[in-house]
Amino acid sequence: MVSAAAYAKSPTPQAPRRVSILGATGSIGTSTLDLIGRDPARYHVVALTGNSNAELLAKQAIAHNAELAVLANPEGFEELKTALAGSGVEAAAGPDALIEAITRPADWIMAAIVGSAGLRPTLEAVRQGNCVALANKECLVSAGNIFMDEVEKSGTRLLPVDSEHSAGFQAIDPNASEAIEKITLTASGGPFRTWTQEQMKKATPDDALKHPTWSMGDKLTIDSATLMNKGLELIEAYYLFPVEPDQLDVVIHPQSIIHCLVEYSDGSVLAQMSMPDMRTPIAYSLAWPERMWAPTERLDLAKIGSLDFEAPDNDRFPALSLAREALESDNGATTVLNAANEIAVDAFLKRRIGLPAICALVTETLEAVARDGLSKPKSLDEVMALDALSRTLAHSLLPGLT
Ligand code: NAD
Ligand code: MG
Repeated sequence: MVSAAAYAKSPTPQAPRRVSILGATGSIGTSTLDLIGRDPARYHVVALTGNSNAELLAKQAIAHNAELAVLANPEGFEELKTALAGSGVEAAAGPDALIEAITRPADWIMAAIVGSAGLRPTLEAVRQGNCVALANKECLVSAGNIFMDEVEKSGTRLLPVDSEHSAGFQAIDPNASEAIEKITLTASGGPFRTWTQEQMKKATPDDALKHPTWSMGDKLTIDSATLMNKGLELIEAYYLFPVEPDQLDVVIHPQSIIHCLVEYSDGSVLAQMSMPDMRTPIAYSLAWPERMWAPTERLDLAKIGSLDFEAPDNDRFPALSLAREALESDNGATTVLNAANEIAVDAFLKRRIGLPAICALVTETLEAVARDGLSKPKSLDEVMALDALSRTLAHSLLPGLT
């Protein structure tokens, strides 16, 4: 047997990689810091950002020796400043401070702000032209063309973090992209996979927040319960992969072990598997183009026993077809869909509407915007204007729903 030493590379001392995390206090942000914290000598943490959790952000910034900690919401500034006093970490707050933090040179930036609030900051990260690990799928749903144009212009290496898209990225053969016939994203089906429409009418936020396989932030957990998440991911996949909308498919796979399948013209299907733990796709993006060790449970197929698959039920989960129609219409409908969904999820979490009303509000908002004529936004300002109009309309339609 050839000894392992024969394959070992001679150790090359490397300067620590400069990394920043947008949305450090969230689910993806804390998982990213968990990986970074296991090998601190390899990384220099430039900026960590959060929205309003000053206590956690300060703790993270001190623990990881960050240069700077920024809260998007200026109200928490005094608390952040006090918590960081004497630590050597700079404190800042507000939208301009957030943008300033992102312009600080970094080799790798994790974009993990939730919702379209992440659009401007993530675009700023892209403009740096280095590596952007993209968790914020709403950027692509809301402003896919504009976002991807900026990626191309800047020469940024965009690394998908969403587990299905990381899986697709790993399974796509860059030398045979024309031979791809179909890309299938898997969906766990969420907590309501087996619920009837009647039962779903009574679902509470607590029911919806009990995801069977993944641990995520609240907004994404609700999106997973309605399958809107998979709809957003179809749109995300369209922008990330060399396929047309009709080459994208979704299959329900309750165990969340296979994340994406890429089918080629010779009938081969390449898939990526792992236990459902976001630290695997985050680690892939952090080490790319190499691989790093991740502290995740290893896949034991014999223990799992069997993997199940079923077709999504469009009657109980209309979000998938709503998203597909929005993508195919190519007229700005995805911006409206994303904005209305954010308002609807927030209203559901606040118990103002029931679960089925989430898709009803998205549908009604799409219809209301379309009545005045929808056209594809050509600039970031046009995206933001359409996003704002859709939010206003969605808010005005909320009282009519239960
Ligand atoms: P989360 O709610 O746990 O965290 C969101 C982060 O964004 C927090 O740091 C929060 O402070 C920050 N934030 C919220 N509003 C902000 C604002 N207005 N301005 C600036 N910062 C703001 O969310 P998450 O689950 O970590 O998801 C983050 C993104 O990654 C989402 O777009 C989600 O769809 C995507 N994603 C998450 C997972 C997952 O497993 N959690 C998987 C795939 C993709
Ligand atoms: Mg996903």
